[in-house]
Amino acid sequence: MNAGRKNVLIVGAGPVGLCLGLMLAQNGIYATIIDKKREIVPYSKALGINPHSIMLLRELGVVDSLFSQGRKMQSITIWKGEKPILHNPLSKAKHPYPFMLILPQSQTERILLSAAKQKGLDVKMGVPYSGHVLEEGKFRVIGLNDSFDFLIGADGAQSPVRNSLQIPIEGFSYANEWSLYDVWLSCNLDPDQGHIRLNREGGMIMIRIKDSLWRVAGNQAHLLNDLPEGTSVQGIQWGSKFFIHHKMAKQLVKGNAAILGDAAHQHSPLGARGMNLGFADAAALAKAICSGNIKNYENMRLPRIRRTVRRVNAMTFGLVGQEWYLKGLRKHLHLLSPLLQLGLPYMRDFMLGVEK
Ligand SMILES: Cc1cc2nc3c(=O)[nH]c(=O)nc-3n(C[C@H](O)[C@H](O)[C@H](O)COP(=O)(O)OP(=O)(O)OC[C@H]3O[C@@H](n4cnc5c(N)ncnc54)[C@H](O)[C@@H]3O)c2cc1C
Repeated sequence: MNAGRKNVLIVGAGPVGLCLGLMLAQNGIYATIIDKKREIVPYSKALGINPHSIMLLRELGVVDSLFSQGRKMQSITIWKGEKPILHNPLSKAKHPYPFMLILPQSQTERILLSAAKQKGLDVKMGVPYSGHVLEEGKFRVIGLNDSFDFLIGADGAQSPVRNSLQIPIEGFSYANEWSLYDVWLSCNLDPDQGHIRLNREGGMIMIRIKDSLWRVAGNQAHLLNDLPEGTSVQGIQWGSKFFIHHKMAKQLVKGNAAILGDAAHQHSPLGARGMNLGFADAAALAKAICSGNIKNYENMRLPRIRRTVRRVNAMTFGLVGQEWYLKGLRKHLHLLSPLLQLGLPYMRDFMLGVEK
């Protein structure tokens, strides 16, 4: 089939749907993208774009904008109470971009949306997907005039497309509620590093977004009462509570329909892999659609996603698990610090999305 004649509908103009639209356009396929929201929401979930994603996004001509708005996080320090026990310089990774690019998801989405519009993609905001019928091999979507050769669900964790396709998603949710705040802080922490603070009950992640604005997230009930010594909150930009999930769709492709991003997998934000995994899904799916064998996408991605979600889950369990032995391990982790040093290259590569 001629690449230009493939008529693709992407449901969801989140980071992953927009990225897929741009990747298809690189190959001459101009998808229609719909999203139920009218505009990009200002409050951001993802902050970290990893080097693997930067390589993928570089092809789309958006990296200069991402770099000009984001900042480079070049190392991570793990703390036990007020004591640093492990320092991991990301700059030691063997990669052209050995850092995590810190940029709020809303800004990443704005950059991708503007690139999509510049490329001439038809992005319709305020248009919800509410179901489809298959007519002579084409997807006719309720409320839209066109019919489509391919239906793609990049429509997030609840994924109405996944539900319509009757693709099961399996897994579980952690019982603990997490808190997240973007707050202006006065503090003594190194602003260029990311900080993970461990305690008996779990952990807290602190990453500076820009100027004195920091992201603080963790599983403590009163997160802002548990900040490092010498830290004071100057103002709260926004805060939220969320539960973390460990879920994967059983399949990614059904006929000429597919799902990707959070529609296909959900896990904890530890390791900053969610959106980044979604970008890698988009690259594989764009390639598979262009090659005329969409099933290749599932064959290639399903084992990799499974492995990553399993590893993120193991990390999360170690950080916030409430079992007695995990609490004990966190309490005495400083004693294991020489051993943990050996694992630094692996932890670094995993976080940067360049692990084997
Ligand atoms: C606290 C937190 C921190 C995180 N940090 C990171 C990080 O640092 N790095 C990272 O890689 N990931 C991170 N993640 C995960 C990341 O936010 C998600 O993986 C990412 O948003 C997934 O993108 P997506 O495009 O698949 O889905 P979404 O961002 O959920 O976008 C889905 C889109 O589909 C639209 N939609 C839904 N239903 C319909 C419908 N019926 N019709 C039309 N449109 C519809 C929605 O409006 C939305 O725009 C974090 C998550 C959390 C909670």
